[in-house]
Amino acid sequence: MPDSQKQDQTEVDNDTPETPKCKHCGAPMKKMTPPQLAPFGSSYFWVCFNDDCGYYERGWEWMLTNFNVRSSYRYKYDPFTGESGPLPVWSSDALKKNILDD
Ligand SMILES: [Zn+2]
Repeated sequence: MPDSQKQDQTEVDNDTPETPKCKHCGAPMKKMTPPQLAPFGSSYFWVCFNDDCGYYERGWEWMLTNFNVRSSYRYKYDPFTGESGPLPVWSSDALKKNILDD
């Protein structure tokens, strides 16, 4: 293989992606198995499980005001589709059993 085709050493290895940081609070996100079968076959999500995250904290009030329900959502990033958005949770412990510890 010619030298020009060598991979850049600084490139992120797809097998060991860097832990992304939550864009709302800056905390390192956690790998989580999807609560149900995810679209597009994603095997895990990155989720911010920081209980002090502003996105999550504001979610409680927003859901109560708009839908009159006691629930919130956490910031989620799906590395397989590149999509990010809210992951609904019903308590501060919800879905924490799905966290994948490396
Ligand atoms: Zn966060």
